[in-house]
Amino acid sequence: MAAASSDSRSVTAPRIGVLALQGDVREHIRMLVASGATAVPVRRPSELHGVDAMVLPGGESTTMYKLAGIFDLLEPLRTRLADGMPALGTCAGMIMLADRIEAGIAGQQTLGGLDVVVRRNAFGRQVDSFESDIEFVGFDTPFRALFIRAPWVEKTGVDVEVLATVAAGPDAGRIVAVRQGNVVATSFHPEITDDDRVHRYFVELVDSA
Ligand code: GLN
Repeated sequence: MAAASSDSRSVTAPRIGVLALQGDVREHIRMLVASGATAVPVRRPSELHGVDAMVLPGGESTTMYKLAGIFDLLEPLRTRLADGMPALGTCAGMIMLADRIEAGIAGQQTLGGLDVVVRRNAFGRQVDSFESDIEFVGFDTPFRALFIRAPWVEKTGVDVEVLATVAAGPDAGRIVAVRQGNVVATSFHPEITDDDRVHRYFVELVDSA
């Protein structure tokens, strides 16, 4: 009689946490699930242990930073990032991942992990939000990006790959998506669109990490 198959591999979906202190958490969870991942909200350090990767959502980076301190998540998150955990940060989440920020509030710190300088609210007060088609490295067609009081990346370290820049207008050429190893960040909000390509890109990265 044939032995029970020992080589039937179960393909497990990566388990991705979404920092759920503030911001558009549900939208990210929906996009991650649509992209084939298991997605869970993370509010406490114990919930970090079970995840393969983290998403830091859009919202307000000053509030997110304060709450991460209150919920004892700053150091555990910094440790996981330093250990190479994949992460995706969108808008405020991009700010949280930046090693350095311009135009932060007094005392505002970040988690770090991404060797960039990010400027908060970079696109100017009069333009609180806008949409723009951008070329994203590896995508066949432009991505319709939604910017809401968005930051941009002002300087990049040598290991940082630029994934997208603003295509047209006064801010043409500004860097709005980057990757350094397993860490990806966008100035815009892919979670608030119907286009899941950025989340798929990240889930594939987590799968192969
Ligand atoms: N301006 C916000 C901040 O500084 C980010 C805005 C957003 O995430 N939509 O955190």
